[in-house]
Amino acid sequence: MKENNYLLLRKRMIEEQLIPRGIRNKRILEAFENIPRHLFVPEEKQSYAYEDHPLSIGWGQTISQPFIVALMTQLLEPKKDEKVLEIGTGSGYQSAILAYLGCKVFTIERIPQLAERAQQVLESLEFKVEVKIGDGTLGWEKESPFDKIIVTAAAKDIPSPLVHQLKIGGRLIMPIGGAFHQELIIADKVTNKEVKKKSAGSCIFVPLIGKYVERK
Ligand code: SAM
Repeated sequence: MKENNYLLLRKRMIEEQLIPRGIRNKRILEAFENIPRHLFVPEEKQSYAYEDHPLSIGWGQTISQPFIVALMTQLLEPKKDEKVLEIGTGSGYQSAILAYLGCKVFTIERIPQLAERAQQVLESLEFKVEVKIGDGTLGWEKESPFDKIIVTAAAKDIPSPLVHQLKIGGRLIMPIGGAFHQELIIADKVTNKEVKKKSAGSCIFVPLIGKYVERK
């Protein structure tokens, strides 16, 4: 498919999937229009990249549905120069959106092949993102504290290192719940002892796998 056709698909995605569901932030919509999402998925799936659902990216993992990426971004309220930690790099698309918005992005992926592919795509598009292979439930101590943290895989609770590595006044977005029902949680760190949580609705994500994941 030609670049122009992909641009048309992006414009249609914005008009049909994002704006009607409440994504109104102009900068976020601009990021979705300008970032070639198809380059973040395997070649044979590129023509489906702008459809209204998640897509498989190999190793049992997915790139999230465009609307979910937009919603999580909007809820995170990212500002220029903020330090953002993402857990679950996957394809690298969410990182690209945050980098486009001017954030300093640090992202961790446990599957080396995905991390390496994401890094290559991000570099080829000239996005400056720090990608690390490892267990994101441990956070990234050396680069902490973070203004914002976004977790793109689900668990029963927020891994404690991530709460510690979030600034006071910072925000964390993460899907919380079991395998079949999760809520997208907005967690605001009010003090070192108080985190205020509220739900932004139901969602479904692949599981977060790591040391600080509660197993009940
Ligand atoms: N944000 C991604 C994107 O834009 O394509 C989508 C991520 S996908 C829904 C979730 C990712 O989280 C998977 O790639 C999975 O391997 C990764 N993951 C799961 N547990 C992890 C952990 N403890 N640390 C780092 N990555 C993890």
